[in-house]
Amino acid sequence: MGYQSKLFIGGRFVEAADGATFATLNPHDGSTLAEVSEAEPEDIDRAVAAAAKAFPAWSRLAAADRGRLLLKLADKIEEKTDELARLESLDTGHPIKDSRGLDVPRTAATFRYFGGMADKLQGSVVPVETGFLNYVLREPLGVVGQIVPWNFPLMFCGWKMGPALAAGNTIVLKPAELTPLTTLRLAELMAEVGFPEGVVNIVPGYGATAGQYLAEHPGVAKIAFTGSTATGRKIVQASAGNLKRVQLELGGKGANIVFEDADLRPAIGGSAFAIFHNQGQACIAGSRLLLHEKIADAFLSGFLALAKSIRLGDPLDPKTEMGPLTSAGHRDRVLTYCQIAHQEGGEVLTGGKAPADAALAQGYYVEPTIVRAQPQDRVCMEEVFGPFVSVSTFKDEAEVIAIANQTPYGLGGGLWTRDLSRAHRVAGQMQAGMVWINSYKRVNPGSPFGGVKQSGYGREMGFEAMRDYTDAKSVWVNVDAQIPPWYPR
Ligand code: NAD
Repeated sequence: MGYQSKLFIGGRFVEAADGATFATLNPHDGSTLAEVSEAEPEDIDRAVAAAAKAFPAWSRLAAADRGRLLLKLADKIEEKTDELARLESLDTGHPIKDSRGLDVPRTAATFRYFGGMADKLQGSVVPVETGFLNYVLREPLGVVGQIVPWNFPLMFCGWKMGPALAAGNTIVLKPAELTPLTTLRLAELMAEVGFPEGVVNIVPGYGATAGQYLAEHPGVAKIAFTGSTATGRKIVQASAGNLKRVQLELGGKGANIVFEDADLRPAIGGSAFAIFHNQGQACIAGSRLLLHEKIADAFLSGFLALAKSIRLGDPLDPKTEMGPLTSAGHRDRVLTYCQIAHQEGGEVLTGGKAPADAALAQGYYVEPTIVRAQPQDRVCMEEVFGPFVSVSTFKDEAEVIAIANQTPYGLGGGLWTRDLSRAHRVAGQMQAGMVWINSYKRVNPGSPFGGVKQSGYGREMGFEAMRDYTDAKSVWVNVDAQIPPWYPR
């Protein structure tokens, strides 16, 4: 089967100006899925020009009409569920059960939510001095640059494009070099449902070239970035030339706290989902398990048994529960953390290596890995971004809050308890953009998503996202005011 693999600029699929391409691989067996056109600065210039040309008409289109196109797109995505899910699984390694059950429906739901939101974003009237009318408009920013990582390519298209388009901006989006295929297919579906040419432009390419150039581009009004904290810093520097708006969704090291009164069965299942879903390649993964010392042994015996029972396999097999990591380089990085754990005196309780199964030998697989470690160890402080969870114990609430807050990150975190007061008290003290109580990793298009500290700033989803893709314009009208002359002549 052929895949759409060219740049999408001005409503057409085109080759890169210099004809360059790069390969996107299937992480299950390392085979090449497609040779994808590689955007270089000249192509980014073309894409920004196409988006700038499309902006006046798109931003003036009635908000309800922009919304209608987003709603049509949501329907189209649902109609193509099987195809999109398969493509996402091939390119990323997500188990098909997840691509079909989570990635595609969540993408459709996000576009639908923002389709409905398009004509709900209202300005306001401010009660100012007598004789004046002051009203505030929410205006789109212009051309926005969007840069996404490889862990949830399709879903992030919904998160990034949905609010930007609903608010009337036009887009140049750079998918991650590892996983461009569903984004390009989505562009094709957008053209099919009637998005005008130039409103969305897709420029696959490398971060250091295409991404960096997009972040620096003087024609771009805002850069919305999801990726590592290290790259986030470069984005901020690159944005300085024209002082463009910046929104950053960066790394995380989620603390997942299990108190002594927690209902252990759901806590064990939820904690496994928190770290092993998508092979742990999630910024909000519950990657630091903090167990009260009284229940640590009981929790761990159930948690270990569950981790060992997870079915690794071909992402296209509907029975597979964990697929490969998305790239060989990333697999090696995750395995390095297993060595670091040994060096630091941690104890690998299970996993820590590639599976022995010969059928998976060509793929980038890592077994579910649980490591007992001290809270100050590197494996408890640094983002591993794989099926790798550190486990430490604590004695009381004050101690565990201090541990939870000790990393530079502040994205998501969770806690398990039956004590209602404690649940709210601890949630309030966790330095995080999102906290889950007796659950983990819930997301919804209406609920703001983003971090504090070095996990970034700005919010995706909900009204917050719409605000982040608009500027407030304050308009003053002298209705009936007697203004004393300032400079009497
Ligand atoms: P990354 O920072 O290496 O790459 C992310 C994107 O940025 C890619 O498209 C890449 O090509 C591009 N890029 C790289 N260098 C660039 C540069 N100098 N200028 C502009 N663009 C550049 O991250 P990754 O390894 O692809 O993704 C994993 C990271 O993303 C993890 O740290 C994870 O926590 C984070 N993440 C955060 C969220 C969130 O919402 N907070 C969600 C998912 C992933």
